[in-house]
Amino acid sequence: MTKPLVALLSGAGISTDSGIPDYRGPNGVWRRDPEAEKLVTYSYYMGDPEIRRRAWRMRREGRALSAEPNDAHRAVAALERSGVPVRVITQNVDGLHQLAGMPARKVLELHGSARSVVCTGCGARGSMAEALARVAAGEEDPPCRECGGILKSTTVMFGERLDPGVLAEAVAVTKACQVFFAVGSSLQVQPAAGLAGLAADHGARLVIVNAEPTPYDDRADDVVREPIGTALPRLLGALAEGS
Ligand code: ZN
Repeated sequence: MTKPLVALLSGAGISTDSGIPDYRGPNGVWRRDPEAEKLVTYSYYMGDPEIRRRAWRMRREGRALSAEPNDAHRAVAALERSGVPVRVITQNVDGLHQLAGMPARKVLELHGSARSVVCTGCGARGSMAEALARVAAGEEDPPCRECGGILKSTTVMFGERLDPGVLAEAVAVTKACQVFFAVGSSLQVQPAAGLAGLAADHGARLVIVNAEPTPYDDRADDVVREPIGTALPRLLGALAEGS
């Protein structure tokens, strides 16, 4: 018997137990603070060295690299290890699914990753940890070591488009899966919101796990309001046992 493909879309809510606030959501930090939003807006970032210096300070103080996966991330990785085919589509940039043990090739990061940097001039990549070490050592806006260009986090900033390859793969996974979990996402930001509807259109069982109502609740086969940290281990544990 072929095991069903499980797709799991995760949003900020899956990482709040790991101490990471919701930055991008409709009620997120960026939307409530226009000055902070400039730090993650491509045109401001590229055009203003002071914005970049503030952005590097924010990355340094944000402690995103020290966050640890929680029970929900671990439950997803455990399901994958049990032999069930799992693909994660995430709106998060924290890399916690991979730290919990999900193979990187099975995690689609719609908004990129805060764990690496890229040069906007030559495209050279490096680790965020190394860039932050340079900031700590006194470089307020560390340039690319290859070409001297402006370095940025590999997160998708406002004003940048999503990686079309990642998005295409997310759509393909969504159409192909038999079960689609939407976890900790308000489903109000595209393209994540559209993926939930697409999954239902293609006949997947749609399970929404979120504290607040979402626009897709009436299309879901199951809506779970229980905290993600207990709901996901229970729901995914049952899937692993049934596999
Ligand atoms: Zn460069």
